[in-house]
Amino acid sequence: DGMVVRSRTKVRKNLIDVCPNLKVIVRGGVGLDTIDYEYAESKNIKVMNTPLASSASVAELAIGYMLMLARSLYKASASMKAETWDKKSFEGDEIGGKTLGLIGIGNIGKEVAKRAIGLGMNVIAYDPIVKTTDLKVKFVSMEEVLKQSDIITLHIPLDKKTGATITKKEFDQMKNGVILINCARGGVVDEKDLLEALKSGKVAGAGIDVFVNEPPTEEQRELLNHPNVSATPHIGASTNEAQDRVGEEIATKVVQALKK
Ligand code: NAD
Repeated sequence: DGMVVRSRTKVRKNLIDVCPNLKVIVRGGVGLDTIDYEYAESKNIKVMNTPLASSASVAELAIGYMLMLARSLYKASASMKAETWDKKSFEGDEIGGKTLGLIGIGNIGKEVAKRAIGLGMNVIAYDPIVKTTDLKVKFVSMEEVLKQSDIITLHIPLDKKTGATITKKEFDQMKNGVILINCARGGVVDEKDLLEALKSGKVAGAGIDVFVNEPPTEEQRELLNHPNVSATPHIGASTNEAQDRVGEEIATKVVQALKK
């Protein structure tokens, strides 16, 4: 009667067709790209997700990347394990007073903005739909986000039709030495163009939680192994708090849907 999935299980037409009693599908997480929801809905099966449960966790990861990349913490930590004492290599930057560009200011983008404002950053944002907020955020064009930002963080879905939002054309408009963070979806940044931008020094540091292939393949190794890349295995929502909220929301939604 009810089906609960996370991100790995794909609920395609063939799976839906072999479940004649199905009334509700709930995906624990953001986005419905892993579910043929239009097909399910055409068969009167409700499709739901848990859009807010992990926003704070993903936002904290993005903020963590900002601090880590501005101070090269991942490199400094590795240097200590290699038994060196190399203070000179780790003269970093403060993030306070810097301009943070948000591409996408939905649920997660707003949580990032709140925290970044608290850290003393100037926050600017581009979003084709959201144009106002109570937060101290200046809404600008995409071009201005690219031109003005010291740090850029993406919080948008992947549009499979249009492909990557950040390609060579966008990197060319960014400040030299920009920091780029992608905790959104693999593919919103063109990985080959990002590697070139890292090699040229256009991008001084990249924090990446999501990849075109997960786990990454041999082809993506050069990007992952670049010294100015810090990467994590899609752990944006992997906190105890987010998992608790996801679990509660799923249980509530399944029960409500099946009681009707
Ligand atoms: P959301 O729908 O609340 O917000 C997305 C915002 O992006 C919307 O306001 C939309 O108008 C805007 N947008 C769409 N295309 C855009 C573009 N080209 N340029 C600028 N803005 C654009 O979604 P959310 O909850 O904030 O999630 C954002 C992303 O984070 C999603 O892709 C989601 O899958 C991802 N996510 C990642 C993790 C993780 O583990 N790393 C966890 C949860 C969510």
